[in-house]
Amino acid sequence: MKVLVINCGSSSLKYQLFNMENEEVMVKGLVERIGIEGSKLIQEKGDDEYIIEEAMKDHTEAVAHVFDALVDKDNGVIADLSEIDAVGHRFVHGGEKITKSALIDKEVRDAIEEYTKFAPLHNPANLMGLEACEKLLPNVKNVAVFDTAFHQTMPAKTYLYGIDYKYYEEEAIRKYGFHGTSHNFITNKAAEVLGKDVNDLNIISAHLGNGSSICAVKNGKSFDTSMGLTPLEGLVMGTRSGDIDPAAVTYIMKKENLSPEEMENVLNKKSGVLGVSGVLGVSGVSSDFRDLENAANEGNERAKAALDMFATRVKRYIAGYMAEVGACDAIVFTGGIGENSISMREDIMEGFELFGIKIDKEKNNVRGGCHVVSTDDSKVKVMVIATNEELMIARDTKSLVEA
Ligand code: ADP
Repeated sequence: MKVLVINCGSSSLKYQLFNMENEEVMVKGLVERIGIEGSKLIQEKGDDEYIIEEAMKDHTEAVAHVFDALVDKDNGVIADLSEIDAVGHRFVHGGEKITKSALIDKEVRDAIEEYTKFAPLHNPANLMGLEACEKLLPNVKNVAVFDTAFHQTMPAKTYLYGIDYKYYEEEAIRKYGFHGTSHNFITNKAAEVLGKDVNDLNIISAHLGNGSSICAVKNGKSFDTSMGLTPLEGLVMGTRSGDIDPAAVTYIMKKENLSPEEMENVLNKKSGVLGVSGVLGVSGVSSDFRDLENAANEGNERAKAALDMFATRVKRYIAGYMAEVGACDAIVFTGGIGENSISMREDIMEGFELFGIKIDKEKNNVRGGCHVVSTDDSKVKVMVIATNEELMIARDTKSLVEA
């Protein structure tokens, strides 16, 4: 079985074609600047790159070019589109209606529409990718895999906000959590590596990338997570503020006369380590942790402050979540930063020695893959596991289509 995985953003589209006999990625690619001048498709097959630079005015045209690239005589990997057995789509928000991956039907579509109110940029873009596939591959089944689904096992005590209950009842304002596909993948992989039944597994999964979230996994299920109603809550991120006193938000809005949309833009795009690493009149160093680490090593105090703040917030969540899950089997780092930043993992774990949890500096000298990086006598294992959300989507797609 061959499964195409599609992840649509508002002006971008990422894809991977899987051969599910061996879960191998046959080809992957990215379309950028959809609907903007300079549209470009870049497809990677091993070390070879195939580039299409042509106007793509919407997602349907982008998907059409993806299909052309997949069957291209010289650069493609399949002879005909009929070889694609199913398409798995990443969706961001399924709210309370969606608790697991699902074949597309009316109920799923209604949930996507309903929860667009909390993911106004993402859900419509995800939907465009789906509609393009339905149009161009009418006989192929589509599956939706939601970032929020894994977290639907959270109990009310962790998902409710401390506000009037009517906001939950009337508007469904609550914590939903994101990166669920990644936290789910990490949970299953950790169980496999540790040789434990996933239903008995307690871990803290730290997905640290441009967007970052932590998940407390209890008995293999999401029990608490740091992102909230939207992906803005929780850790300090590349450009997102994470947790902040709501009164600071209303103060800034009043002081600078900002509309709700303008304030959302400040909190989503101009905050986080980018915002924190700036000084008055000079913009921040970067939202990219490699740039920040380089700048900090060259003595930039603001970059150092941003990295310290990030590490402190992650530490705070991990410690709190360990108390929530009880006997913890492992703390797992994943995502671009979690997998690759050796120094950030060290900084985050500093202080946990008091609780008998110790990182082994030599073992920690790794990037990606799947490793235990704690000392042999550490009370809780610290691990690095490379996440693979696309594979998780492909697996769910295969099992739903086969069923
Ligand atoms: P996204 O959330 O967009 O999927 P990623 O998970 O790819 O993002 O993470 C991107 C982040 O990972 C960037 O801040 C990048 O600097 C960081 N990163 C990647 N490689 C390294 C590295 N070797 N050292 C430190 N940070 C890294």
